[in-house]
Amino acid sequence: MRIVLLGAPGAGKGTQCKYIVDRYHLLHLSSGDILRRHRANGTDLGKKAKEYMDSGALVPDNVIIEMMIDEISNAPDGGYVLDGFPRTARQATDLDKALAERKEKIDAVLNLNVNDDVIIRRITGRRICPKCAAVYHVENLKPRKDGICDKDGSKLIQRPDDTAEVVKTRLKNYNEMTAPLVDYYNRKNTVFNIDANEEAEIVKELVFSKLDPLVERVVL
Ligand code: AMP
Repeated sequence: MRIVLLGAPGAGKGTQCKYIVDRYHLLHLSSGDILRRHRANGTDLGKKAKEYMDSGALVPDNVIIEMMIDEISNAPDGGYVLDGFPRTARQATDLDKALAERKEKIDAVLNLNVNDDVIIRRITGRRICPKCAAVYHVENLKPRKDGICDKDGSKLIQRPDDTAEVVKTRLKNYNEMTAPLVDYYNRKNTVFNIDANEEAEIVKELVFSKLDPLVERVVL
């Protein structure tokens, strides 16, 4: 079972992915989390990606494609959900080529639709744990102790690319480079459009209602 999750930054891709991997036992492959891991580990790739990420720009296609195809090649047979990749037409076509070589394909694409004002509120209020990548929100997903991760006690931070200024660049990039992928996938895959403006728990039910029948078909 291979799923692609599309949606603007702040659409809730990461949150929905967690629900999806728990329910269907898939691997969560988030290109943003993988890049942040490289940065935390001080790898060459992490160093290369830093400037692009902090300014809200996309990391060059060749770097991302190599990184993600490597992750996919090492993924267990059960399948995965791709979160934040592909993000450009070239990433999508190269992904399809790599899958075709392995006689595989994407089984479903979920497109999370969210209004811009909701996105800005979600992103600028987001705080993350630099150690375990847990995600919180200053208004509606507070940690038990203010500013401290529930899981490992680390001090929470705001991602440098989650400021109001950088969010604008990220949204522009999304609209120009990633939104057209919905048409690309519409031509060849099943795309489920989901209204993701509501609370995560409500969106989750919409996502499951689309995926449950499909998972039965693909897995059984
Ligand atoms: P995310 O956590 O998905 O919002 O990604 C954070 C940042 O990582 C993005 O703003 C980009 O700089 C970079 N990034 C993540 N995925 C990709 C991708 N597929 N292509 C290019 N850059 C990416």
